[in-house]
Amino acid sequence: MALVVQKFGGSSVKNAARVLEAARKAIRAKHDGHQVMVVVSAQGSTTDDLIAKAHEISTTPSAREMDMLLATGEQISIALTALAIQELGEKAISLTGPQIGIVTDSTHRKARIKKIDTSRLVEALTTGHIVVLAGFQGTDELDDITTLGRGGSDTTAVAVAAALKQAGYDVQCEIFTDVDGVYTTDPRIVADARKMDAISYDEMLEMASMGAGVMHSRSIEFAKKFDVPLMVRNAQSDALGTWIVPEADWMTEIPVCGAALAYDESRLILDGVPDRPGVSHKIFSALASANIAVDMIAQSVGSGGKATIGFTVINSDREKTIKTLSPIVTELGATLREMGKVSKVSIVGAGMRTVSGVAEKMFRALSAEKINLKMITTGDIKISVLIEEDEVAEDTKDPGGEPIKKAHLESRKAVRGRQALRAIHSAFGLSQPRKGAGKAVGDFLKRPAPLVSTAPSDRASAVAKLEGMEDILVSGVHLNSDQSRITISDLPDRPGNCAALFTAIAEAGILVDMIVQNMTGPGKAELSFTVPRESLPRALKLAQDMAKTIDPQCAAVGDAEIAVLYVLGVGMRSHTGVAKTMFGALADRGINIAMINTSEVCLGVVIDKARGEEAAACLKDAFEIG
Ligand code: ADP
Ligand code: ASP
Ligand code: MG
Repeated sequence: MALVVQKFGGSSVKNAARVLEAARKAIRAKHDGHQVMVVVSAQGSTTDDLIAKAHEISTTPSAREMDMLLATGEQISIALTALAIQELGEKAISLTGPQIGIVTDSTHRKARIKKIDTSRLVEALTTGHIVVLAGFQGTDELDDITTLGRGGSDTTAVAVAAALKQAGYDVQCEIFTDVDGVYTTDPRIVADARKMDAISYDEMLEMASMGAGVMHSRSIEFAKKFDVPLMVRNAQSDALGTWIVPEADWMTEIPVCGAALAYDESRLILDGVPDRPGVSHKIFSALASANIAVDMIAQSVGSGGKATIGFTVINSDREKTIKTLSPIVTELGATLREMGKVSKVSIVGAGMRTVSGVAEKMFRALSAEKINLKMITTGDIKISVLIEEDEVAEDTKDPGGEPIKKAHLESRKAVRGRQALRAIHSAFGLSQPRKGAGKAVGDFLKRPAPLVSTAPSDRASAVAKLEGMEDILVSGVHLNSDQSRITISDLPDRPGNCAALFTAIAEAGILVDMIVQNMTGPGKAELSFTVPRESLPRALKLAQDMAKTIDPQCAAVGDAEIAVLYVLGVGMRSHTGVAKTMFGALADRGINIAMINTSEVCLGVVIDKARGEEAAACLKDAFEIG
């Protein structure tokens, strides 16, 4: 007997018929001999409707009252689902997040789970009930209701599964939704997107964080941290969906497994930032303290002692970001400007760590579509580009700038973004089956026998382990002193430059690691990338030749005296404290940061080579890594 946690999303409980269908699935699992927990979202578009209702009354509703309001959606669903199960002849009990003791911090609208008390759940399961739990909600230490952020019911489901696993249960978690599983990209946008059999935790984490709305990214953090097996599957069929599992060798046989589009970000640019230690820390720690997760950060190398820093934040954080930065901008003598509507397109794949030419292929596909890249950042297993939406593609804002979950892409007209996504999907042949897929899934499923234990003493110690369960997990600091950097400045801002450059580099068999491109002034971009030090002379020659053919003004310079420092873990980008600690520790030592890359599994910075060892040691200290 295992414990099966089944999560049903909004569309899967949108009306009575669907609620009954979900109830039948839960009952079937029970009849198969399992203990069953069901986590449900609000019905259909209830959460969107509640947000709209609030905006009829206030343009700036307070976050506390919004949580009070939004949590009601899930409360309706749990009662209806429990009624449906009872109607079909099984014992069921519905419980809210506060009732079972899901304790969060007090960041209303995007609270993080601190701990989960499993005692009430265990009691209800032991007495043979199917437990129906409200997703998306908890209470803070003041007993105020909080919510976990849009799409947060996935996180409730996986977090509860993780907590019960710690309490000794053999847990499996199924995420029932309106698609057959995780696709290579959003099947609503790319018709030949393919359902994957399996994807690694890290790949899914990056995909989710880069816009693949099928899973809430924080739920994958829990799954990875607590080793919870997850399957995403269709609520309206019995077909197997997609396993989200630890990385297996076969997953690296292809460089790219999926692509994602995000169209709810704003891009801000800080010009004239003094290029000295501690400045990035000042900027990003202020944002981190305001709980704003910064996405793409591109810091230009800078000339005349001044640098340009561009970054993106989610639209709903835009105003708060501008407000937070305003005193700092004044103090630094910098200026803050905004770019128009943008879309972000990303590719993800564990195999790209070791394969050359991935960026080149992406840029070439975009160049063929005449899509101009406004910003580029890379991570260990992902590359993201920001593209400008055409004027006609300008979006009308959702009320109050709230991200609306089911907002229809067609009507939101992320025209260039969708075009880019299709081009990339086809360039990487993502509709073709993934090599070796399925091999490792079978082994993975041979899991140990159930370990059900509900002894009170075990429970107490398990609960203790769950303290701070969503705290950041930094697993390592890695220094790479074998890289060099090439910077091309004054690149004219038009499509095709990156494609031409990286085609030449890839044809020479040179592996490019980090790439950062930023707009430095009207019509001008700056591009920096790192290559192995032994490849520097060849890469620099290619870059210089290419720069000249692009524009006589444009020059490429090489710098062999750099080191790349990575902090590895899970949820590195969305846990705002990581960047703060990293930049803070480096600033305290007076170590200047020349390039920054962010992703969910790794934060990377380029620093002076001479300070590499010292910087790695101080970060190990800061993150308490032995
Ligand atoms: P739920 O309400 O069940 O949580 P969501 O709307 O949050 O459902 O997630 C399912 C939707 O995610 C799908 O309808 C699909 O359009 C979208 N989606 C985006 N990217 C992907 C992807 N890579 N694979 C599958 N679905 C995706
Ligand atoms: N009902 C919440 C939302 O719409 C949570 C969820 O569906 O996961 O965002
Ligand atoms: Mg969802």
